[in-house]
Amino acid sequence: MPSQRKLSRRIAVIGGGISGLAAAHRLVELDPDCEVSLLERRGRVGGALWTIHEDGFQIEQGVDNFITTIPWGLNLCRRLGLEDDLVQTNPKYRQTFVVRGGRLYKLPDGFLMMAPTRMWPLVTTPILSPLGKLRCALEYFIPPSKETADESMAAFVRRRLGREAYERLVEPLLSAVYAADLEKLSVDATLSRFREMEREHGSLVRAMRKQMVAGRKGKGKAESGPRFSMFVTLRRGLSSLVDAIVERLGEGTVRSETVVERICPAGNGWQVWTSPSDYLAPGDSPGVVNASSPSGSTPGESPGAKYDGAKCELFDAVVLATPSYVAGSLLEPLDAELGRRLATIEHSSTAVLTFGFDESQIGHPLDGMGIVVPTAEKSPILACSLSSRKYVHRAPEGKTLLRVFVGGSRYPEAAEMPEEELCPRVFDELATLLGIEGQPIYSRVARWPRTMPQYHVGHKDLVAAIESGVEKLPGLELCGNAYHGVGIPDCIHGGEQAAERVLDARS
Ligand SMILES: Cc1cc2nc3c(=O)[nH]c(=O)nc-3n(C[C@H](O)[C@H](O)[C@H](O)COP(=O)(O)OP(=O)(O)OC[C@H]3O[C@@H](n4cnc5c(N)ncnc54)[C@H](O)[C@@H]3O)c2cc1C
Repeated sequence: MPSQRKLSRRIAVIGGGISGLAAAHRLVELDPDCEVSLLERRGRVGGALWTIHEDGFQIEQGVDNFITTIPWGLNLCRRLGLEDDLVQTNPKYRQTFVVRGGRLYKLPDGFLMMAPTRMWPLVTTPILSPLGKLRCALEYFIPPSKETADESMAAFVRRRLGREAYERLVEPLLSAVYAADLEKLSVDATLSRFREMEREHGSLVRAMRKQMVAGRKGKGKAESGPRFSMFVTLRRGLSSLVDAIVERLGEGTVRSETVVERICPAGNGWQVWTSPSDYLAPGDSPGVVNASSPSGSTPGESPGAKYDGAKCELFDAVVLATPSYVAGSLLEPLDAELGRRLATIEHSSTAVLTFGFDESQIGHPLDGMGIVVPTAEKSPILACSLSSRKYVHRAPEGKTLLRVFVGGSRYPEAAEMPEEELCPRVFDELATLLGIEGQPIYSRVARWPRTMPQYHVGHKDLVAAIESGVEKLPGLELCGNAYHGVGIPDCIHGGEQAAERVLDARS
């Protein structure tokens, strides 16, 4: 009589960024018997979640923190037993600065992404001219658009709030988040709630005010305010989230330095060809160059062209959690149109420069969380996070840690500029803005080539077409930051959903 024992499922998760990690974790969480292989090209998993500790500083080389207004990041931390390690932003310094004419100005209080919740701070801000303020106030009376087609962020904001508010307030804020060209960035795929506000309430200002009133009434009834600040990080750094997942996955699950060269359906499963990675930089630090070390090259990723001699393994299902252009190269031989669609999602490159100082070196009081810089300033800096103001544990007493973002669609050359050119240029600019004296006591550059997918106008339709192509490939699921959100909670959600679909289809 044949054995009744259910055979364990073998599932390959390709790509060990947070999307792939979340997918692998969900698979073993829901089905402890399933045999998961997490295949990652680099020498480490986690992607842009990468903390280092040096000279007493805690340095986040990529991701700084994650948002708590959507639940998936917090939920995963809770399930991993990390809730007590969550750290809130410092309530003393929740202010953002905007640069105008080479000087720092406080962003008007209550200005949320692209809409004011309070009028008085907007009336009194020196960032806008009297005409710019008037145009902003007219938003209340501008009828909603009857168009239903997607629209660029720039067009939407100029239509609602006027050119000045767009250029001086919204463009710098959103460029810092999406590293994108706002003339191409889709409203529907990034901040669709603002279009919904326009449709439902006729005006963003009106919608925000209604939400504030409803919030105040709700707060009166609630026992306490929100448990977490809008953003949180982890006390031991965001790498501790990666470490906690890897620990839960168990030994042998993570196979780093393994590049997937080719995938192909075979019977009821999938063949996966792997070879040892060609993508290892000295010190297990691909893409990162220490300020004191020679520059390392950081090629964009694509599966290797050759798979002769690669190892072939059979899996019951595959979760593809690589960047979309890698997914495109892997799927193109199976469905040329699907491969082409995946390849059309552009990615921008960024670099993060981290500087440490003695507090006495800095003339500015640094009474905020960050600085954003409009394109009109023609600065190499996209944004600067006052890292140890935002989260005090990141610098020893008497020291300050600043993280500067460069590159993106606005200034792509900066992301690749040799360090000896980039560091002095950025530092000089920062020194002028913040009144810094002397040289930094610590510096480091982290490079992130082709890591920020660009959600251009029409992105939602493109993703729907990609997903219907993937549906025709049973046993394959797709997730990653290129599809339904670039933030960490969105990536976690995407990975977990992909894992659930795999298990549903196989049960
Ligand atoms: C500098 C920077 C700062 C950011 N800050 C924040 C922030 O503060 N908050 C926030 O919420 N989000 C932030 N983001 C966005 C967020 O970090 C990313 O969207 C997210 O980490 C993407 O995760 P992912 O797993 O989808 O992709 P990735 O991390 O890119 O993972 C894909 C993985 O696939 C691997 N891979 C590629 N090809 C192959 C192959 N052939 N075989 C095997 N493996 C392969 C890659 O090596 C990589 O590890 C930031 C991003 C950057 C770059």
